[in-house]
Amino acid sequence: MSVMKQKQDSNSWYFLDVLTGLRITMKHLLTNLFNRKKMITLNYPEEKYEYSPRFKGNHVLTVKKDGSIRCTACMLCATNCPAECITIKASEHPDAQVEKYPISYEIDILRCVFCGFCEEACPVDAVRLGPEWQTPGLNGANFIYDINHLAYRSNLKGGVQSILDDQDRHKAGI
Ligand code: SF4
Ligand code: SF4
Repeated sequence: MSVMKQKQDSNSWYFLDVLTGLRITMKHLLTNLFNRKKMITLNYPEEKYEYSPRFKGNHVLTVKKDGSIRCTACMLCATNCPAECITIKASEHPDAQVEKYPISYEIDILRCVFCGFCEEACPVDAVRLGPEWQTPGLNGANFIYDINHLAYRSNLKGGVQSILDDQDRHKAGI
């Protein structure tokens, strides 16, 4: 067996490579310090990207014109959910024109795969996947989104109105 000895030269010290790396790091550091507009990174969480309104992030339960929940508790979203993470409890509505409504609507967001099937299945535009995606929380309970969070969390500013209201639906005969 023959053993080849590697040539010992100045490259084995990696000195030039280290200097080249430092030069690139310093170049980016100084560029970012003095020209922050060109920075390709953000100071998260103080700064956040603006996502398209079509981005499929956290769920929103829409509301009617009077601010009440649009959902009719038909269970189509829960039935279609492949992750089985939607739990709904239905009740009769005091208004005889409204068939049912949810007294409880919960999504276990840690199980959700953001497939959008619930949104697709809903016949009355009552659930949508919105542009928010940040889901911070200190324990597991923070990731069960209840009806109040889904419909009335502060950044929804009183709720997102459904396209199809009951009155419009009755007028259209659907
Ligand atoms: S996005 Fe998909 S996984 Fe998440 S709740 Fe809707 S149907 Fe279920
Ligand atoms: S969100 Fe839509 S599909 Fe789900 S129970 Fe309510 S009305 Fe039915």
